[in-house]
Amino acid sequence: MRINKPEQSYDLVVVGGGMVGASFACAIGNQDLSVLVVEAVAPNSGSLSQPSFDARSTALSYGSSRIFERMGLWQQLAEVVTAIKEIHVSDKGRFGAAQLSHKEHQVEALGYVIENRKLGMVLNTTMEASKAIHLFCPASISSINPNQAGMTLSVNDKTDSHSISTSLVVLAEGGRSPVCDQLGITRTEEHYKQHALIANIVFEKPHHNIAYERFTDTGPLAVLPLESIGQQNRGSLVWTLSEQQSTEFMSMDDAELLEKLQERFGNRLGKLQQIGERFCYPLVLSLAKEQIRPGLVLLGNVAHTLHPVAGQGLNLALRDTAALVEILQKAHSDAKPLGDMSVLQQYLNRQKSDQDRAIKLTDYMTRLFSTNSNVSAWVRKFGLLSIDLLPSIRRSFADQAMGLSDH
Ligand SMILES: Cc1cc2nc3c(=O)[nH]c(=O)nc-3n(C[C@H](O)[C@H](O)[C@H](O)COP(=O)(O)OP(=O)(O)OC[C@H]3O[C@@H](n4cnc5c(N)ncnc54)[C@H](O)[C@@H]3O)c2cc1C
Repeated sequence: MRINKPEQSYDLVVVGGGMVGASFACAIGNQDLSVLVVEAVAPNSGSLSQPSFDARSTALSYGSSRIFERMGLWQQLAEVVTAIKEIHVSDKGRFGAAQLSHKEHQVEALGYVIENRKLGMVLNTTMEASKAIHLFCPASISSINPNQAGMTLSVNDKTDSHSISTSLVVLAEGGRSPVCDQLGITRTEEHYKQHALIANIVFEKPHHNIAYERFTDTGPLAVLPLESIGQQNRGSLVWTLSEQQSTEFMSMDDAELLEKLQERFGNRLGKLQQIGERFCYPLVLSLAKEQIRPGLVLLGNVAHTLHPVAGQGLNLALRDTAALVEILQKAHSDAKPLGDMSVLQQYLNRQKSDQDRAIKLTDYMTRLFSTNSNVSAWVRKFGLLSIDLLPSIRRSFADQAMGLSDH
C-alpha cells in the first residue's frame, strides 16, 4: 500500500521500485515479512524521468513467464503480452539464417513481449494492493550506514527525512547508484561505443508473432511483435548503432529514417509505414565488483547492466530475484537474520554461474554481431547455419533464449 510516512523498522527495505525492485517486492511481499519499497518516481505517473517503466518493450523469456506465474501475476500479465511463437535470426546480405519455433520446443511460446509501462502498471497495482508492502514514493535515500543488525537508512521525501533500520537492504536502484558510491562499491565498465535507438513501428503485414533479430552493417536490429491497435500492425524496434550513426539517425525525419530501416530490415513485413517517438540509450557492460555485504544485496542493473542484444538483462534479474526470494524465505523460516553473510553468500553461490553465462553470451554476441570483419561474418554464418541444422545447438540456443538454460 502507498504510505505517507514509513515505520522506523522493516525486515527488508527495497531501494528502487523499477522493474526489478518492484518484481522482488511482489515476489516476497505476500510472505510474513515487513517490506518497505522506496522509489524516487511516483508510480504510473508516465513521467519521462521514470527510467524503468518507460517507452521500451521487453522480451520476457518463457522462464520469466513461469517466474511471474509462481508469483501469481501471470494471469494479469498474460492479458497485456504478445507471444513470440518464432524467432528468425539473419545476417543482412549474407547467406545463413536460423529459425526457432515454439512447436519444436513444445512450449506455447518461446517468450513474450511486454510494453514496460504495462508491466509497471501490473507491478505497481500489486504493490499498492498488498498490505505487506509499504510503497513510499516519491522518496529517495540520502545515506546508508551499516549497524549491528543490518543497515540504517536516511530516507527523504519532499518535506521530511526519516531514519529506518532493517536487516537487509535490497538495492535495485539501476545502473547509476549513489548508494554504491557512498558505500565505496565500485564497478567495471566497458562502453561499447554504441547506442540503442528504440521506437514502436507500424508495418503493412501482420507479424504472425515472429520476433526478428537481424545483423546489419550498422549493428544488430531487433523487431519484436506487439499487439495490434485497430488496423495497425505494430512492432517494437531496438536498433544498435554507433555513437555517430545514432546522432545522425535521431535527427532524421520519419520518412528518411523509415527508408534507412527498410533498407536494413527488408520487406518481410511489407512496407514500413510509421515510426513513433524515438529514444536513445548508451550501451554499456557494467558490473558491480561486490554484490553482497552484511545487510546488503544488489539486484538488477545495479549488479549487472548488460547490452540488450540478447534480451538477457531483466530475464537474468528475474532469475536472480526468484533465487533470492527462495533463500530469504528459508532463512526466515529458520529464524536466521536475512542480512547474514552466510544467507547472502548462498544466494550468490547459486546465481553466479547463471550470471556469468548470461554476461558472457551477451558480450560475445555484441562483439560478434557488431563488426563487419570477414572472420566475424564467417563465424556468424557458421553459427546461424549450425543453429538451424544441428538439433543440439538449436536446443542450447533456444534454452538460453527461453531462459531455461539453468533448469
Ligand atoms: C533498449 C533496451 C532494451 C532492453 N530490452 C530488454 C529485453 O528485451 N529483455 C530483457 O530481459 N532486458 C532488456 N533490457 C534490460 C532491462 O531494461 C533492464 O534489465 C532493467 O531495466 C533493469 O531494471 P532495474 O529495476 O534494475 O533498473 P532501472 O530500470 O534503472 O530502475 C531503477 C529504479 O530505481 C529508482 N531509483 C533510482 N535511484 C533511486 C534512489 N536513490 N532511491 C529510490 N529510487 C531510486 C528509479 O526511479 C527506477 O524506478 C533492455 C535494456 C535496454 C536499454
